[in-house]
Amino acid sequence: MRHTDAIVRDQIYPTFLPAVFGHEGAGVVVAVGSAVTSVKPDDKVVLGFNSCGQCLKCLGGKPAYCEKFYDRNFACTRDAGHTTLFTRATKEQAEAIIDTLDDVFYDADAGFLAYPATPPEASGVSVLVVAAGTSDLPQAKEALHTASYLGRSTSLIVDFGVAGIHRLLSYEEELRAAGVLIVAAGMDGALPGVVAGLVSAPVVALPTSVGYGAGAGGIAPLLTMLNACAPGVGVVNIDNGYGAGHLAAQIAAR
Ligand SMILES: [Zn+2]
Repeated sequence: MRHTDAIVRDQIYPTFLPAVFGHEGAGVVVAVGSAVTSVKPDDKVVLGFNSCGQCLKCLGGKPAYCEKFYDRNFACTRDAGHTTLFTRATKEQAEAIIDTLDDVFYDADAGFLAYPATPPEASGVSVLVVAAGTSDLPQAKEALHTASYLGRSTSLIVDFGVAGIHRLLSYEEELRAAGVLIVAAGMDGALPGVVAGLVSAPVVALPTSVGYGAGAGGIAPLLTMLNACAPGVGVVNIDNGYGAGHLAAQIAAR
């Protein structure tokens, strides 16, 4: 073990753990995971630290003294202009992130954090998130924040489920103005199909695990949404607010 490994282990450099420790080394790749495309087994590789390649130290041939050495190798941060999202964080995980990074956005209901806290300037068409009930708020807000931090203008309307459909109709103008909609619902999961029947924009349906026994933890609303009669509905996995927000942000990037 080298000095750097020891001070990371002891958190003298506050570093997210678990982490792979190690200094520079050379070797041969034995196996790779299915998502790895940059190397393959039997490739000869050199493992080193990360550096920016653009600061005065890097340009002077001393990447070990890179001005972004700590950020890139220990703090799990990226250069300015990039946003890092943390989803499904427990209270303890959130506290660890907040203790380590300055300027973090945190929504405890959604278990969502973003660094840095200021979202990028919005572009593309707008994303409107509709939550059927207040119980769907954690997933709806995860979707909302994800779309915001991916650079879309977002808004949220809550508690407009099919049990009080007249309330939804009072928002018809907002619904029709949205570029993309995310509709979160548990229970019978009927709301995305209803909304898709009112608007011409695409609807990302987000089934939640909110409901009683035969809802089977979100399976019932998921199946309802997959069987939506109205066209223009795409469905993400149960409680996957991040997936809904990401998909909507990509669709809205036009
Ligand atoms: Zn550098």
